[in-house]
Amino acid sequence: MTDAHAPTPLKLFNSLTRSLEEFQPVHPGEARVYSCGPTVYNYSHIGNMRAYVFADTLGRTLSYKGYRLTHVINITDVGHLTDDADAGEDKLEKAAAERAQSIWDIARHYTEAYWADIKALGIRQPAHWSIATDYVPQMIEFAKAIADEHCYELESGLYFDTTTVTDYGRLARHGTDEGESRIDPVDGKRHPADFAIWRRTPPGEKRQMEWDSPWGRGAPGWHLECSVMSEALLGFPFDIHTGGIDHREIHHPNEIAQNQAHSCSTDSGARMWMHNNFLVERSGKMSKSSGNFLRVQLLIDGGYHPLAYRLMCLQAHYRSELEFNWDGLGAALTRLKRLVMAAASVCDAASAAVVDDRRLADLLGKFDAAMSDDLNTPIALTLLEEAVAMKKVDAGQKRAAIEAMDAVLGLQLLTLSRQDLRVRPKAATIDADAIEATLARRRDARAAKDFAASDALRDELIAAGVEVMDGDPLGWDWRPEGN
Ligand code: AMP
Ligand code: ZN
Repeated sequence: MTDAHAPTPLKLFNSLTRSLEEFQPVHPGEARVYSCGPTVYNYSHIGNMRAYVFADTLGRTLSYKGYRLTHVINITDVGHLTDDADAGEDKLEKAAAERAQSIWDIARHYTEAYWADIKALGIRQPAHWSIATDYVPQMIEFAKAIADEHCYELESGLYFDTTTVTDYGRLARHGTDEGESRIDPVDGKRHPADFAIWRRTPPGEKRQMEWDSPWGRGAPGWHLECSVMSEALLGFPFDIHTGGIDHREIHHPNEIAQNQAHSCSTDSGARMWMHNNFLVERSGKMSKSSGNFLRVQLLIDGGYHPLAYRLMCLQAHYRSELEFNWDGLGAALTRLKRLVMAAASVCDAASAAVVDDRRLADLLGKFDAAMSDDLNTPIALTLLEEAVAMKKVDAGQKRAAIEAMDAVLGLQLLTLSRQDLRVRPKAATIDADAIEATLARRRDARAAKDFAASDALRDELIAAGVEVMDGDPLGWDWRPEGN
């Protein structure tokens, strides 16, 4: 059995080596983490939010393991094109033109919406939100330092020659011909994988966001911002760089190439590169181009507490694909309700007779081992449930154990109230009191074993657009049909 007093070393999966490695901080006692953040031309979808739940879980685990955490998340308000491989337009320029708004207004609106989502999901504030447009002078300096040896100019701007660094694409494990077969959207590039460092504004055009540079007026390439801001805020090298698994293919290999060029070394810039797998949704409701795409506010409007989505994410390992559907979210909400109710009863309980003090310590040891095993949140959740359900144990110690586990999982079990989880669906037109009264009658009918009456009342509710959720631990068991 794991000894709670001998913490397990933290092992994390490094995408660079495709293996589990023990976390060894660059600066003793510290953990410096950089997470690629949102491009603020639109709302984030819930898949994007999975990336931040993952980064937050990593950060919380590092804090739990005693490291002083410095976390940076960037806000991309310039440079990200509609295609990661340098094709298309700047996402923000395009949104601004389509909506006849200023880029700054668009960026502010979606940054604030993103922060609201972060808060709703219980994601801790990072030490720094780094905004790309605040760092353009540093990006130009960085580009100047690598231009002669690693870049070449075309009419459309300054490009990075990916053959000038050792082992380009080692993170993505690109085969030599794989890179070559990439569709090449820019005329004159020496190699298909080469990418823009500076995008010159075409003659006769004016962009809303452009700066002067030695390569003409224009805007930085997307990859540049993360190399520059991570080094500025976390030093070189720092500990862990995170992002969704799509970034393992283009964005992060390009950051690494820039870092190698700038440091005149083979150092990738971060000791570990970690990537969360995707949240997938079969009907296409997660595509930002579909009208009412899946975002946190849509879940809330549907009557689901946002922490149910956090729990749903934690139920899967971050490296596994996770499928979203409403039934799964409903099940996660039910599980969260059970946890919250059980945790509340712990707080109410007077100290019970202590039978065996070791059990909680053992459980905490197992919890530590699970989180130290590349953030095994599915197991950690079952251990939290075991702690919550433990009988004949000192109430103070039990509460402390739940608190310690929840500090890592971030479900706010000891502060959420049952009432908080009774989120009323925005679309429900039916009067909640009438629903409650019908449900009460139905409960009476069931208690009297009058199942015909109970079924009739259920049909009545269904006809009114309300789905009855038998077995819901809160007993306030309805939601509109179809969610
Ligand atoms: P973006 O706003 O498109 O730059 O993406 C923000 C973050 O979300 C990045 O780390 C992406 O890799 C990640 N991401 C994008 N789509 C998904 C998805 N379906 N599931 C999980 N993470 C995603
Ligand atoms: Zn990035």
